[in-house]
Amino acid sequence: MSRVSEHNASVATVGDLWPDFAARATALCRTVAGRDLTGLPLYILLHSEVADVMGRENFSDGYTTPNLDLNLRSVIGDRWHGRGPCMVLNDVFIVDEYFPEDVDIVAMSIVLHELAHILDRPMPVDLQSLPSDDRIEFETMVIANAARHESRPLPTPYFGHEDQFIRIALHLHYRAALAGVETIPNLLCAGRRYCLSHAHRYIEAFGDEPADLLEIPFAEISRSPPPEAFIALWLNDVSRYLECCSQTLNGVLS
Ligand SMILES: [Zn+2]
Repeated sequence: MSRVSEHNASVATVGDLWPDFAARATALCRTVAGRDLTGLPLYILLHSEVADVMGRENFSDGYTTPNLDLNLRSVIGDRWHGRGPCMVLNDVFIVDEYFPEDVDIVAMSIVLHELAHILDRPMPVDLQSLPSDDRIEFETMVIANAARHESRPLPTPYFGHEDQFIRIALHLHYRAALAGVETIPNLLCAGRRYCLSHAHRYIEAFGDEPADLLEIPFAEISRSPPPEAFIALWLNDVSRYLECCSQTLNGVLS
């Protein structure tokens, strides 16, 4: 996700509009992925809270990294209850870019996007890993620096948001809807931004899978084979993108 967002202290933040946003977002995450998050604290922070550590200029509308709880330990402060997955939501960007009546649905969609990244890892947080203070300080500098650049070179537009990520994100979308929380599928995954088919086409390809696997943890879902229609759509999207790339390359070389 990459839109420009200059911090402006005079602009209202999500926290200003909804002081209970982090609590509601946390409750949603536990509702849709409770089995995967059992026993773990979950830290949902706002860009306006972390700007002193990560820098005020930020081109992302949200982000998560494997050790982000340690990178932002000083901001978490008294809320710290041990290691747990962590995400940052760019409240300044969302309030700048969207009408007030859309802010909630956009913010919750971004929360589920970041949650899908957390669930797409081998485990939500690696409790066996004990990075040194120097390592964490270095990582913090890298994350802050990356967030300051609008575009970063990626091997493909969908890098990091591939088939397994799409599957998790759209199961989360389905579970959130059952809990009465609306989210926007194309903000969660797939679509033109990633040079992929619209997220609704992936929803169609899943058929009844999200309902059938409602009670199954994501760690288990990710190990099971997805529906054939989903695999076919994904492979078709990838080959269409690669075909497009090779035609562009031929045009440049000819
Ligand atoms: Zn992402």
